[in-house]
Amino acid sequence: MIQEVVILGGGSAGLLAAITLAKQLPHLKLRLIRSLDIGVIGVGEGTTAAFPRHFFDYLKMPVKPFYQGVQPTWKLGIRFLWGPREEFYYTFAKEYTQEIEGFSRRPGFYHDEETTWLGPISALMAKGTVFPRKPDGTPQIRPPHAYHIENEKLVSYLEQVARAVGVTITDGKVDQVETGPVNTNGGSELGVKRLILESGESVTADLFVDASGFRSELLGKALAVPQVTYSDSLFCDRAVIAGWSRTNEPILPYTTAETMDHGWAWQIEHENFINRGYVYASNFVSDDAALEEFRRKNPQLSTEPRVVKFRSYRCEKMWSGNVVGIGNASGFVEPLEATALQIICVQTSTLADVLMDSLCEPTPSLVDFYNRYNAGQWDDTRDFLAVHYKFNTRLDTPFWQTCRADTRLGGAQQMVDSYLENGPSTLLNGIILPPQNSFGFDGYLAMLVGQCVPHGKPYRPSPEEAARWKRRRDEIGAAAEGAMNIRESIQVLRHAGWC
Ligand SMILES: Cc1cc2nc3c(=O)[nH]c(=O)nc-3n(C[C@H](O)[C@H](O)[C@H](O)COP(=O)(O)OP(=O)(O)OC[C@H]3O[C@@H](n4cnc5c(N)ncnc54)[C@H](O)[C@@H]3O)c2cc1C
Repeated sequence: MIQEVVILGGGSAGLLAAITLAKQLPHLKLRLIRSLDIGVIGVGEGTTAAFPRHFFDYLKMPVKPFYQGVQPTWKLGIRFLWGPREEFYYTFAKEYTQEIEGFSRRPGFYHDEETTWLGPISALMAKGTVFPRKPDGTPQIRPPHAYHIENEKLVSYLEQVARAVGVTITDGKVDQVETGPVNTNGGSELGVKRLILESGESVTADLFVDASGFRSELLGKALAVPQVTYSDSLFCDRAVIAGWSRTNEPILPYTTAETMDHGWAWQIEHENFINRGYVYASNFVSDDAALEEFRRKNPQLSTEPRVVKFRSYRCEKMWSGNVVGIGNASGFVEPLEATALQIICVQTSTLADVLMDSLCEPTPSLVDFYNRYNAGQWDDTRDFLAVHYKFNTRLDTPFWQTCRADTRLGGAQQMVDSYLENGPSTLLNGIILPPQNSFGFDGYLAMLVGQCVPHGKPYRPSPEEAARWKRRRDEIGAAAEGAMNIRESIQVLRHAGWC
């Protein structure tokens, strides 16, 4: 029976794993080991709506201390400067599959050149506002929303929470890992027998969580678990990151994803800082040339740019023997949809659920479920990102030509085929994509319609229907215009002692 769990890594993956296990299985003895010398990756600043769902709904963590500790801003989705339109919006809401009274088709069919927003959330994004104003002047903070969070603030807040829920944190570096056969309910398997710290201490446990980031000390190095590469769909492998202190720029309620010559750039909105990063493919551009383009397009950069290298892949199994990998130690997909924290939340909650339901004696079928379910999370993300690369016609550089010609769509192929035949019809919603797909029909339609991918069923509404659509659009736009922006919302919450 699993009673003692050691978590290697004190980044957001290790800390979220520790907090999730402590909250859901309070009888477990939890120890987290992290090296302050190695430190954390220090990037990862946009979430999806899965993060607040995990933290507040699943873990039932109080909201106010989170705002006080982390000082997030709100993110309603992503503004894409991508494809032939000047811009389009990807939201966490269901704006493409909703049925709207008085219209014969689903909204995607009306997304013509003039349409910037399809529903209330994309309208808020277009107007730069974030929440409707309640009669008492406070913001109506409602799902689905996500956050922009500075990684350092998140990690130090999560550390406080982990200590408060009873996790023991040891500062120390794992120097050696002793492997050998370990007993699991599946029989005897290769696993980790002990960790030996630089101090000489030997650490044993019933279960090890590998949250050691790209070093993947246990799953990758010690157990040499095979990996599945995504390099035939995702060609980028580096990012250069910098930013500047905010002056009078409005705090935008979305991440911006902008097409660049050899990849794309994000803009993430913190209260006092704007974080910019250029994700590029080193097969197409040198670090120096990428930095030159990044600086030329962002002359206001004031912090020293740093380059982070990465590979897009996942481990074939994320639970192997007595080791479970969480976060970057188990796989990585570039941050175009900012999904890493979401995957960490899913990994940690499925781990806690498996331990709870198996009474801490995980059966082979539950371990197999864990592996298949979490592999699906990574693969779904790869599939969805592939659609971003395959159909972006904005630039004609060698990088983008190659993306359009060679990106493998993987599991997205059926969804794309259906769209090419049927356009933004939603009749196959719930049939093509499994319910656990994180992006869903709405996500795919947002990207396919947003990028103006031609399809076989263009729809021309009658003049009356077109006029009604325009009226609806104007009404939604006017409501969004009167909503609160992020600065106002923060001021109200701060005044009320929230942050
Ligand atoms: C360019 C880029 C942009 C990103 N943007 C986003 C984003 O917008 N949204 C998002 O959700 N995610 C994003 N991510 C991913 C995100 O950064 C990570 O998924 C997240 O921070 C989790 O990191 P981690 O905890 O797995 O690893 P890390 O933060 O690297 O932590 C690893 C931990 O393991 C410890 N460790 C390692 N080896 C040892 C050892 N031998 N002994 C002791 N301790 C050890 C380290 O000290 C550290 O505490 C981005 C990633 C990159 C590269």
